[in-house]
Amino acid sequence: MKLVVFTGAGISAESGLKTFRGEDGLWEGYNIQDVATPEAWHRNPELVQHFYNIRRKAVLEANPNPAHLALAKLEEKFEVTIITQNIDDLHERAGSTNVIHLHGLITKAQSSIDPQLTYDIVGHEIKMGEVCAKNSQLRPHVVWFGEAVPMMHEAVAQCKLADIFLIIGTSLQVYPAAGLIDYIPHQAHKFLIDPAADELNRNVNITNVAEKASSRVPKIVKQLLAI
Ligand code: NAD
Repeated sequence: MKLVVFTGAGISAESGLKTFRGEDGLWEGYNIQDVATPEAWHRNPELVQHFYNIRRKAVLEANPNPAHLALAKLEEKFEVTIITQNIDDLHERAGSTNVIHLHGLITKAQSSIDPQLTYDIVGHEIKMGEVCAKNSQLRPHVVWFGEAVPMMHEAVAQCKLADIFLIIGTSLQVYPAAGLIDYIPHQAHKFLIDPAADELNRNVNITNVAEKASSRVPKIVKQLLAI
């Protein structure tokens, strides 16, 4: 049986990594237009680099929480694909082996002229002056607002195969990622686990579970493993 999980920033909130659509609409005090767009990079690459260096340090210091760990156990019984909007690597560190990163991975660097050229980062910083094999500045390997989402095609293909679909900790406001739910087969069992589920989802075909990920996901996983 095929189980697809679609996660957002909310699943990592209890690992200490903040979401960005909080009350003030900022991401760790920054306006996303100033730090997460190609225009921001052209205007002020030092600021953008600094912002992601701090985010990367926080990711390296964070640990997977019970929700990430429970999802990894699903592989004992199901064919699992995790599609995440998160740029952290907590699903992998929890043990999940099949993770699609729609918005990239902060632990890697990429060439600023050739997105195919990516590198592992030693430590938490990319420094200004560090260049790729084509001699251009290294930038974070993340998809900024306004950039193409290269993994979208593969993610759509996975959604179409789902028998069970879990959506966890996402406001479903960032497109094109949020559009993935339109590709889930009608007959698949679908759940949204998010404390704000009732406000976020009015689709009666998706069951709302208005609870935090770390308390509810392990219970759901236990039930699924017992089927
Ligand atoms: P979002 O910030 O728009 O929404 C977060 C959602 O998580 C909200 O619906 C909120 O109710 C829910 N939430 C909060 N605490 C939760 C908990 N304990 N358990 C379950 N749900 C909880 O997040 P998004 O929809 O993923 O969009 C944000 C974008 O920002 C993503 O595309 C991502 O690339 C980026 N981002 C990533 C990280 C990360 O990698 N950890 C962190 C912040 C932002």
